[in-house]
Amino acid sequence: MDLSFLGATRTVTGSCFLVAVGDKRVMIDCGLYQGLPQLEERNYAHPGVDWAEVDAILLTHAHLDHSGLIPRAVKLGYRGPIWAHSATVDLADIMLRDSADIHEQDAEWLSRKRRRAGKYEVEPLFGKKDVEDSLGLFRRVEYTESFEVVPGVKAELRDAGHILGSASIALDIAEDGLRRRIVFSGDVGNHHAPILREPEGFEEADAVLIESTYGDKLHESPEDRRKRLREIINDAHANRGKVIIPAFTVGRTQELLYILGEMLNRDEIPPIPIFLDSPMAIAATEVHERHPECFDRETVDRINSGDNPFSPRTLTLAMTVDESRNINRQKDSAVIIAGGGMCEGGRIVHHLKHGVYQPQNYVVFVGYQAEGTLGRVIQRGEKRLRLFGEEIRVKAKVTSIDSFSAHADRAGLLDWLRVFRKAPEVVFIVHGDERPGEELAEHVRKELGYTAYQPRLGQNVDLADLENVAVAKRRFVATRTPNAADVREIVARVSMLGGEFQSAIEGYVGQLGRRIRSAEQEGHEPHWRTEDVRETLEHLAEAVDADLDTLERLMAESEEADSHPPAAG
Ligand SMILES: [Zn+2]
Repeated sequence: MDLSFLGATRTVTGSCFLVAVGDKRVMIDCGLYQGLPQLEERNYAHPGVDWAEVDAILLTHAHLDHSGLIPRAVKLGYRGPIWAHSATVDLADIMLRDSADIHEQDAEWLSRKRRRAGKYEVEPLFGKKDVEDSLGLFRRVEYTESFEVVPGVKAELRDAGHILGSASIALDIAEDGLRRRIVFSGDVGNHHAPILREPEGFEEADAVLIESTYGDKLHESPEDRRKRLREIINDAHANRGKVIIPAFTVGRTQELLYILGEMLNRDEIPPIPIFLDSPMAIAATEVHERHPECFDRETVDRINSGDNPFSPRTLTLAMTVDESRNINRQKDSAVIIAGGGMCEGGRIVHHLKHGVYQPQNYVVFVGYQAEGTLGRVIQRGEKRLRLFGEEIRVKAKVTSIDSFSAHADRAGLLDWLRVFRKAPEVVFIVHGDERPGEELAEHVRKELGYTAYQPRLGQNVDLADLENVAVAKRRFVATRTPNAADVREIVARVSMLGGEFQSAIEGYVGQLGRRIRSAEQEGHEPHWRTEDVRETLEHLAEAVDADLDTLERLMAESEEADSHPPAAG
């Protein structure tokens, strides 16, 4: 029996872990990489397994960085069951359909361009049909019910308190008289978040995988975040400004509606109009209303008292594009919650274009902004943006209220680990950038006395020999090497970068070289081999009409230029 780390190693997206027991293979999460182009490029060859050989998928929650490659898996031959909490199944329905639309539109846009240039068309990562096929494979489970996934593997889901339906998963594995319990935290929710119950955790495990998104941070208290939001809204109202909030459509949006409704009920803020501008967020809110069994005490009480916690009294829903445009004609102050949590697309980008140049406005970030996203650029204080080909000055006040995050901070993660009655043999730190991951690992060692470390991409661990896992020589799984079709898709992805095509290709070629070097330094089989690179170069050359020599020279140069060990995974 063994465990392979196929994604979300030393980075926050792309969750994907494989457990093998005898000839059975169980995948926990199947997430999309999001953010930097070099991460997103991985999606085409990710996670590098033969999907027809996987027997079951377990899904911790509906966020795309955990679920977004499920239709891709189905497109590539996966036919087994996909187990998830009932609310996760309903949310995945909305999110995967929306995601297929985006992938199809991207591919269509690119294909049109390429047809005009007389080049081959590109395939989307997956399409609507793959989503339909995936949805037919979902199986609904509830919290705390134990069920058999495959012979020799039982699972139990417990409330992770992160988004509706989110779960931590324990796998009980038995093989040849040997038993192991592996616990996957999934994403762990924030303490005292409204709507959902507190994260529950498990009491026993031999090995634990825990997320570390905010492993280096301590959130401000719920009272402080409330106070800050109240002050921002009151200030904006006094100055006829707008409060623009990019919000993740699932979770954060409903939490904001809940808190805004409560502040209105208590006259803590004036009766300012609130716009929810996102058909998907509206649909996700309806899914929440269908799952009261997931709510905490306070939310149930509010509903029982006749109040709808997701519908503040000044709320207007914008479904159509016209309704969305009308919001920009609004002269007076308003709160605008729009989809596109990291501002990478969606209606939020239009509101930013119309709002960031006015000093009376606020842009309030309430969620994690990944490296490489427009959200991150605005958050770190960039004063000029290019939106829809126009240069826009940022004069609005930009602020972040991290504690609205749906993720536990370091203290919350340590509390979740404290629930174990006996120290697990090992704690694997995943789903976090390298620094927060290392900081969490240090605290786990120091405060809890557990063995903890961050695994590398592709690393494989023998579950029968957990005592020695931290000192054992690292093993890596052999993943499928990319074929010509993968390469074409990767090239297509890179070429989506438009005007920066050439530099992206250069970066990409350099990256291939670094990846191989890093594999050699680590003493393991690289995911890409020299022959693959040669083949890739040929395709790249074809795609960019450049000659092979130039590309090979670029690769050699970028290899030379990069003398430090890369941040693998
Ligand atoms: Zn999540």
